[in-house]
Amino acid sequence: MEKVVLQDSMNDFALQLHARERQWLASYAMQSSESAGRHYREPPHAYRGPFQRDRDRILHCTAFRRLAGKMQVFTDDMGSYHRTRLTHTFEVASIARTISRVLQLNEDLVEALALMHDIGHPPYGHCGEDVLDECLQPHGRFSHNGFALTIVQQLEQRAAPYPGLNLTIEVLGGQQLRDEKEVGQVPVSPLLEVQVVDAADSIAYDAHDTDDALQLGLISMSDLQGLAIVERARQHLTDSPPTLTPRDRPALIHALIDLQVTDLLQHAFGTLQPWQRQDRHALAAAGVRLEHSPTVAQEREALEDFLFHRVYRHPRLQAVRHSAGGRLEELFDGLTKAPDRLPLRFRRRSDSFGIAAAVVEYLAGMTDRFCDRQFAALRSQSGPLADWS
Ligand code: MG
Repeated sequence: MEKVVLQDSMNDFALQLHARERQWLASYAMQSSESAGRHYREPPHAYRGPFQRDRDRILHCTAFRRLAGKMQVFTDDMGSYHRTRLTHTFEVASIARTISRVLQLNEDLVEALALMHDIGHPPYGHCGEDVLDECLQPHGRFSHNGFALTIVQQLEQRAAPYPGLNLTIEVLGGQQLRDEKEVGQVPVSPLLEVQVVDAADSIAYDAHDTDDALQLGLISMSDLQGLAIVERARQHLTDSPPTLTPRDRPALIHALIDLQVTDLLQHAFGTLQPWQRQDRHALAAAGVRLEHSPTVAQEREALEDFLFHRVYRHPRLQAVRHSAGGRLEELFDGLTKAPDRLPLRFRRRSDSFGIAAAVVEYLAGMTDRFCDRQFAALRSQSGPLADWS
């Protein structure tokens, strides 16, 4: 099928949605009726707008469900309190919708972007990503943001005569910018909806990684008390206890999210004030950015620095990283040397993209446990390994 960009035509519902968004959304929000469309033409839906359809396609795709079996920071065997990649995604979507609603941006677009943002994460968190990236060199690079696009444009299958989910240009473009940002190129100022999801992502993980690390005993309340943002959050607690105890953890995490969202919104009101009657193109041309106030930005940086050294590099997690990384490396080596052990779908992809890229795609789509099982099968059985879809 020829790949062209076509806009959905307007039906009665689209006209109603257009009128509603004109009334409720800010002038610089992305209007659903102004979507650049999809690569493959589709008739408009009777009662769902284009970004709502994108959100639903992402929510119902198999890669989204696999997020439940992918670790965020902490592994399965460390308990059941902490976040998975799936629950992280829902926290991001919730925070992003809150910010979007206050700023009168397009919530459907924000939700679609948020639900998609980590869909390309490989097994074993950032360790898995680092290992797969090393495996691909010198043939290319692996990033979870880029792999998300491969999933939604090529690997997912719907009941449709084209590959992938056929998402709107805006959702694909937002994810593309995340990928480019990762390698330091951001040629244009992203839509505000894209920036909201980025901000919500970091607010969510800063808070929930702190929460999970406390609950797992990797850090203590007293470790946190030197951090300015924690002191700011402490002052928000009922009666502002002079010393934080483990019982204050839920209230502290709530305050951490709340104060970051509030700061982002207050700063955004000032930034957006001069642009009240302008459209999104004017803001993009001027490079308008949604950011935290300089003080809170600095305090967040200190928290992230603390999390990096004290949590993400904690000996318990380093041991997990080491053994998980070894399993992925062995799977990569074994499958590139014996391509007949790849599932048929990925053997076919290796004809077009090369064996290294096909093996990395196969490994990147796995959940943590599925990867463990294929590692055991590689060593103990013959024949092709199982496909994950
Ligand atoms: Mg994320």
